[in-house]
Order: sequence, then structure tokens, then C-alpha cells
Amino acid sequence: MRATISNSVLDATEFLNRGKLVAIPTETVYGLAANALNADAVVQIFETKNRPHFDPLIVHVASPEHVAALATDISAAAQMLMEKLWPGPLTIVLRKRESIPHIVTSGMDTVGVRMPDHLLTLELLRTLDFPLAAPSANPFGYISPTSAQHVDEQLGDCIPYILDGGECRIGVESTIIDCSQPIPTVLRLGGTSVEAIQELIGEVHVNALSTSSPKAPGMLHSHYAPRKPLVVGNIHELLHQHGQNVSILSFKDSFHNFRNIRLSETGDLHEAARNLFAAMRKLDADHHDIILAEFVPDYGLGRAINDRLKRASYKGSLINE
Ligand code: AMP
Ligand code: MG
Repeated sequence: MRATISNSVLDATEFLNRGKLVAIPTETVYGLAANALNADAVVQIFETKNRPHFDPLIVHVASPEHVAALATDISAAAQMLMEKLWPGPLTIVLRKRESIPHIVTSGMDTVGVRMPDHLLTLELLRTLDFPLAAPSANPFGYISPTSAQHVDEQLGDCIPYILDGGECRIGVESTIIDCSQPIPTVLRLGGTSVEAIQELIGEVHVNALSTSSPKAPGMLHSHYAPRKPLVVGNIHELLHQHGQNVSILSFKDSFHNFRNIRLSETGDLHEAARNLFAAMRKLDADHHDIILAEFVPDYGLGRAINDRLKRASYKGSLINE
């Protein structure tokens, strides 16, 4: 049975109420959602994505008021971030309550919660009487989906329903900040800039490209990756090293004699983030051997883009870490 793709919140509600999986649109990427309080429903997420059980899921809520039922010890900083930056691309890690099944948090005593900024999904969350556990709706390790079609291409045979909310406005995953520690620590760079967080709560630690901690598998070195090798560096130099059968993922410059996708002609980091994953998918699907890419300016959303490029390149790697 193939997934139905439609924008009916009511239909999505029915599947979720019956313990089924539904792909949902958010402003970051599409999620693969199940009732977060139903372990039997959640286990299907891991099976469908082929996701290792050590990789915890983010729990999506309709408003900050719903967090108190899921988490305890909500710090003033966490409260401030929820008030000012939700709905939005920011996941906050807090101490979990018993109500959340262990499978959701991979056995950890913390839970990541987020209020997504997408009209359809907010309507869905308000209609349901449970929160939604949802990781990105792609096979584990591959590029995250930013349209209903991307989800359909990869998971359309495995799930009953895709709630179509158009293309994702931000295009990279949420920033994850651990507020269960005395000093808040960013565990994953994403759609909310570190600068925006620091403006509200002061200095935070950033620990986003480390493999040392089993608690943050979004931190895995190779992740968000195309199947073919992707290398990042100075494109002119890479062209000398890698010959002609290449495609080029550039920030704003064009490379006329090559298969080339530019992330943003005007050098806009928001536009670049929005285009990143769709561009990687397109270049992964053509006949060239290798994707050559370059980093973007390393501030604001650029840090999240560069983080994704590093992880995407890890298999073919030029990165030494
Ligand atoms: P995805 O939505 O597929 O990007 O995956 C969710 C990511 O959120 C995981 O890979 C983890 O990195 C992160 N995450 C979720 N819950 C927690 C938690 N309790 N502590 C730390 N990281 C978490
Ligand atoms: Mg993911």
C-alpha cells in the first residue's frame, strides 16, 4: 500500500489515534510522527527508518504549557527560550517525566521537546490529545526530506499517510540545546542561530561536532549524507584534484561548464539553508561520480549549513577530526 499524500489534518489525526505513523511538515524538515506516549507506535518509527535504538526522538508539542506534563526542572533559561523562540526551530533538552516511554529517549533521563512553526502541524498537535515523537522522515543517515515528495520517494511504501504542508521554510533541522545542565549546551547547530540564543540567555557552550557523547546521535560524524562522495573545500582546487566527472554545490558563484547548483545567487544564508537538502538530493541522483561543495560564511544559519556539509562529506572525507 502506498502512502496517501494530502493536507487533511483530520485524516492525519485518525491514523495517529490508531497508533499509525504519519509524516508531518515542519518549518525545518519533514518528521515521521507517532503518538509519543505509545511505545508500540513509537517502535515503528525506529523500524521504518532503520534507526538505531540509541538515537532518541524529539517530542513535538502544541505550546509551551504542554511541556510541564513531559519534563521537570524547567530552568529559567529554558522557560525564556520557549517563550521567545517557540514556535520555532529550537529543541530543548530537559529532565523527562515517567509519562514518556523509554524508547522515545533511548533510555536516557532527558527528553528533547519542541514546538514546530508550521500551521498544519500545529493544528494537528492541538487536535490530538498526545504529543508527537518525530525524527526526520528519511532512512537513517540519509539526507533529511524538505518536501512531501522527498518523503514519498523514500518512505512512501512503508507509511500510510503524508501530511503535505509544502516545502519546508527553514530547510535544516532544529538547533538542540541541553537545558538539563547548569550551563546550557548546544548539542546540534540548526535553524535557530547560537547568536539568537545568546542574546536571550547569555553565553552557552557549543558541543556540536563531537562524537564523545552517546547522548546526541544527531552529532554522529557521518549523517545527513548523500550516497555518493561529497567533498568540501575550495572548489577550484578540488576541480584540479577530482577531474571532470563531478557536480558542484556552490554557495553563490556559478561554474558554467559543470553541473552546478548554487545555494543562493544573492548569498543569502536563509535561502541557502532552504535549498541545501533538495540540492544534495538532486546531485546525488545524477550520473556524476563526486559532489564538490564549499563552505558558506560561518555565522548565523551558515554554521548549521557548514555542519551539515561536514557530516555529508565524512565518508569521502577531507575533514580530520
Ligand atoms: P532527528 O529528528 O532525526 O534529527 O533526530 C533527533 C535528534 O535529537 C537525535 O539524533 C539527537 O541528537 C537529538 N536528541 C533527541 N533527544 C535528545 C536528548 N534527550 N538528549 C540529547 N539529544 C537528543
Ligand atoms: Mg535525522
